[in-house]
Amino acid sequence: MTPAVPIPFNKPYLSGNETTYIEEAVRSGKISGDGLFTKRCHQFFEQQYGFQKALLTTSCTDALEMAAILLNLQPGDEVIVPSYTFVSTANAFVLRGAKIVFADSTALNPNLDVSTLEALITPRTRAIVPVHYAGIACDMQAIQALATRYNLIVVEDAAQAIDSYYRGQPLGSFGQLAAFSFHETKNIISGEGGMLAINDPRFATRAEIIREKGTNRPLFFRGEVDKYGWVDIGSSFLPSDIIAAFLWAQLESLDRIQAQRKALWQSYFTQLAPLRKIGVGLPMLPDYASNNGHMFYLTCTSLAERTALISYLKARQILPIFHYQSLHQSQFYASNHDGRVLPWADFYTDCLVRLPMYYELSTEQQQRVIGAVLAFYEKR
Ligand SMILES: *Cc1c(COP(=O)(O)O)cnc(C)c1O
Repeated sequence: MTPAVPIPFNKPYLSGNETTYIEEAVRSGKISGDGLFTKRCHQFFEQQYGFQKALLTTSCTDALEMAAILLNLQPGDEVIVPSYTFVSTANAFVLRGAKIVFADSTALNPNLDVSTLEALITPRTRAIVPVHYAGIACDMQAIQALATRYNLIVVEDAAQAIDSYYRGQPLGSFGQLAAFSFHETKNIISGEGGMLAINDPRFATRAEIIREKGTNRPLFFRGEVDKYGWVDIGSSFLPSDIIAAFLWAQLESLDRIQAQRKALWQSYFTQLAPLRKIGVGLPMLPDYASNNGHMFYLTCTSLAERTALISYLKARQILPIFHYQSLHQSQFYASNHDGRVLPWADFYTDCLVRLPMYYELSTEQQQRVIGAVLAFYEKR
């Protein structure tokens, strides 16, 4: 028997025009930031999703760091972040001296549990950072109601949430600020890359300045000031136009990419649904949330079961991935955590596993993954 061809967890998809547009950018003679392709991408996002202002960044991490600077956090200010998330969601605010207050996930999916939020708010709370895990919307209406009542800023970590919706409204358009990722593991990619969406005019000009090393150069180029200089803190957060050229090719193919990913997600969901009878969890979409086909995950009933499943699949040349060690338990931040037990964050840390999901995953390959998962559970 010939050995099975490995099925990776992710494979970056090139939609076809990436190198053509990169050549075009190079030929234009301007490849630093805010060139032709960057402007096209900004316009696309503003028109397609109604963001008041879109600014490409070199990563979602950078977009979150820009958001943290925009908040003018003072040492001791508190920011509420789910524990079950990527490091950058919290680290961006820690860099500004903030204290992170961790929220637990819900039982139904890893998104933060809004019913626990109000008890976490203190006079020092400045912001809430909902993460739309797997592109599935958090309960934005409830979060915004709290934010309004307590005068808090909402920064959406929409890294996984491109082209996803809450009651028909695009994710990333709710928070005063929202951060997206175009890392090669996301739906729409540019290798590394990200975007800050700004939906509050108070932040618009300052965001441009922070992104341009603390200078008012963007205003100078628009003729709004007659010379530019150092006016604020900032850093170099803008990507080269070569990155934007790559991203533009992806955006042109957005509908096709999304349709394919959603179809893959749906066939995982339909064929693995019987596992729910034996306690395996499948992604749970509340009725207010759309699906953007970012990720397909299962939750096992224990860490031991997940470990066994992963080695069973790896032995069959299938590479599933688990991720996120709850941040309240992390080596770096555990000693700053207030000691609350966050059982659902711990549950997802131990039990969640992500199955291969990428545009070029063929029907035959996906059937191999599904067949192997079902076979693993039949044996048990
Ligand atoms: C991918 C991801 C990030 C980081 O994105 P980068 O572009 O790699 O900086 C942050 N938050 C979440 C939830 C992510 O999935």
